[in-house]
Amino acid sequence: MKIKSLLYLPLVAVITLNLMCSKPKKTDDVPKNIIVFIGDGMGFNHVDATSMFMYGEAGKLVFEGDEWLKLAQATYSAITNKDSDDGYTTGYSPRYARNDTAYLKSNFTDSGAAATALSTGYKTYNSAIGLDIHGDTLKHATELAKEIGKSAGVVTSVMLSHATPAGFSANSVHRNRYEQIAKQQILNTKLDVLMGCGHPELNNDGEPDEANYKYVGGSQLWEQLTADKSVTKFVIDSVEYTVSDINGDSKPDAWALITDSTDFAAIARGEKLPHRLLGIPKVHSTLQQSRKNDDEEIPWKQPMNTGLPDLAQMSLAALNVLNQNPKGFFVMIEGGAIDWAAHANQSGRVIEETHDFNKAIAAVVDWIEKYSSWDETLVIVTADHETGMLCGPVEGDQVVTQVKSNGKGNLPEMNWYSKDHTNSLVPLYVRGKGSEIFRFLADEFDPVHGPFVQNTEIAKSVFLFWDR
Ligand SMILES: [Zn+2]
Repeated sequence: MKIKSLLYLPLVAVITLNLMCSKPKKTDDVPKNIIVFIGDGMGFNHVDATSMFMYGEAGKLVFEGDEWLKLAQATYSAITNKDSDDGYTTGYSPRYARNDTAYLKSNFTDSGAAATALSTGYKTYNSAIGLDIHGDTLKHATELAKEIGKSAGVVTSVMLSHATPAGFSANSVHRNRYEQIAKQQILNTKLDVLMGCGHPELNNDGEPDEANYKYVGGSQLWEQLTADKSVTKFVIDSVEYTVSDINGDSKPDAWALITDSTDFAAIARGEKLPHRLLGIPKVHSTLQQSRKNDDEEIPWKQPMNTGLPDLAQMSLAALNVLNQNPKGFFVMIEGGAIDWAAHANQSGRVIEETHDFNKAIAAVVDWIEKYSSWDETLVIVTADHETGMLCGPVEGDQVVTQVKSNGKGNLPEMNWYSKDHTNSLVPLYVRGKGSEIFRFLADEFDPVHGPFVQNTEIAKSVFLFWDR
């Protein structure tokens, strides 16, 4: 009896330990909703310049408030050039970054690899969409959300099939396969919400133009989508496609296509909520940044395109549709043209675009406080990379690293040292349920920007919360 007890006790202990380890987490331990905002190309100075122009000083944008955890993020990809033997990354070294601008101007990610990392948790080669370095398919956070019964969406101010929204919803060997990517997004994914530009019959000022259907999946898809609003079966090049069943009732779920700004506005107000929303504003590549006279330096001096939603309205419309699911949602919302303005070194339009991005976050913060709460929703605001190596003025023989304020309403001192992406750290702001995990994930340190995470760790946090 004595021997038996001795043998028996440790076994009980082992079983108990196992039970403790595998005990499922309570659902209220993790966020119900996760909202990831990506300012494409938005470095620290893009944020500061916008705050200085709008408010006269840095630190005043919504996501810079005291409630937000402020960190940095390393953006580099696994392979910068897949076709070159020395295309492997040099990573991010705080030591070189501090002293060597040439180092920061080389070995940078593109938006495809960065979005793939942010969405799947894996660094990959530049231009990849949802594939790893071997070309194998990766699982997106949007797909994980659908697997566990949540809703999922992607929203962007540029084309819906552009690198960042594609990197959160599609799988392709190259980001430039727009038509194929849009076909995947519309016909294969289980997304509840897909919103972005790419209107095939209009130009960048929203005026009629020679048709270009590639960003919306080709002319046949577009014709069938616009001819019948409840279409679930498409025939493209004699091949039949059926849209996905997004809610598990074994019936395909048609997209409700909207293009009118009044429809975006109504859904943003919570009226006429469709079951599944495809929103394509009436403009070709982006809402505002590519409108005419883009050499104008002063923000908003050139009249804005009219008859279009802004990113705030698109974000609210997305949240209202996604929030119909009591199990919660994942959504990625991109301010996509901050990058485009930065590539062109357009200081004024960088401020316009970053302000529009900030306005969307402000609207979402209000929405959370009205219809959800910080106890169930996590918001992550970050960038996929910095664009333009934006710095401050030259004083003596030194470039001041921070842009310099010229007071509210005046363009700050903004100097551009690149027309391309850089390997600089980008800002990361986190607020709400589960945000504390980023204190642990930020285990690398930069002397200028402090603790930082890898871009992969943003998706890793989503998978840690939800994949169990
Ligand atoms: Zn870019």
